[in-house]
Amino acid sequence: QNSEQAQLISLYDQTAQLYTHVLLNTKMGQQALEYLHQRGLTDDIIEKFQLGFAPGEQLLKEFFDEKKVDYQVLRKSGLFIEDQQGQLRDRFRGRVMYAIKNPQGHVIAFSGRILNKADSQAKYINSPETKIFSKSNVLYNFDIARTAIRQEKRAILFEGFMDVIAAYQSGVTNGIASMGTSFTNEQIYLLQRTTTQLDICYDGDDPGQAAINRAIDAFSQNSQLKLSVIEIPEKLDPDEFVRQHGGKQFNEIVHSARLTPTAFKLDYLKRDFNLNNEADQLTYIERALKVIGQLGSSVEQDLYLNQLAQEFNVQVADLRQQLRQIRSQQS
Ligand code: ATP
Ligand code: MN
Ligand code: MN
Ligand code: MN
Repeated sequence: QNSEQAQLISLYDQTAQLYTHVLLNTKMGQQALEYLHQRGLTDDIIEKFQLGFAPGEQLLKEFFDEKKVDYQVLRKSGLFIEDQQGQLRDRFRGRVMYAIKNPQGHVIAFSGRILNKADSQAKYINSPETKIFSKSNVLYNFDIARTAIRQEKRAILFEGFMDVIAAYQSGVTNGIASMGTSFTNEQIYLLQRTTTQLDICYDGDDPGQAAINRAIDAFSQNSQLKLSVIEIPEKLDPDEFVRQHGGKQFNEIVHSARLTPTAFKLDYLKRDFNLNNEADQLTYIERALKVIGQLGSSVEQDLYLNQLAQEFNVQVADLRQQLRQIRSQQS
């Protein structure tokens, strides 16, 4: 069984090397290479992150057939799709390939991005689950980022692979990403063994903001990590921000614009209300008090109660009173 895993690791390693070779050195990869250059990536970064290109042909199948790799091994690898007749065809075709690695730096899966997005096709397709790959346990780039995470005493969690890479190119090297799933104990365990602080830096668009809100709740419930939120302005994602404003400004945001989870939540809550309207103000205050009431420390509670009082020109004592009422209703 161990040897089955070793066999898979070897297949994925060879595949990653092939895809990178195709991207960097062949005519087949030329369009994809131009696309990545246009997105600001250098060949060094492409090699560092083992980016590649899976061409339209059955290149991988032919590659392993030539090496006489066993059919059953290929079948179980997840690198192929099996048709009705049991024929294997390359799973990834015409896609830019992101190598997904385990904490030891071995390639265990791929995510393939379509080159030119047409509506019918998924933007990304991922390898299926195998003996070596469980999507929900992946921390993308953890193998490379681990040293920087230790040094900086914090990790930055991004939404997409390209965000991690763009951040890395700007010198922000402690970035990781999940694969869009909710967080598992395995991921939390890996992180907590390495750091105590997690900065959440998702996309600035609405889905990204909603995902921050969910991530805060999940990490607060399931981990001891100290959280903060880095908000990307103008609804951009971190990669777009780097391209539009440069790495220097990105560094400034990352290092200076950290919100506490509560500050983020109070802000996020405001979207649902028209705060020029008094009825809305009252409901907002009530909902905000519920957020504040969840805080463990009374010093922290005081901080936000005072802010809320100032913001809406009400007495802190009244807010405390209302908070007590909310609590007694809940218990
Ligand atoms: P790009 O900049 O290349 O368009 P992105 O990282 O900005 O990519 P998003 O749409 O913001 O892409 O999605 C963020 C992450 O969510 C992706 O990196 C990927 O991990 C995951 N994801 C997005 N769309 C899909 C999909 N159709 N299937 C599986 N995973 C997806
Ligand atoms: Mn997004
Ligand atoms: Mn994005
Ligand atoms: Mn993007």
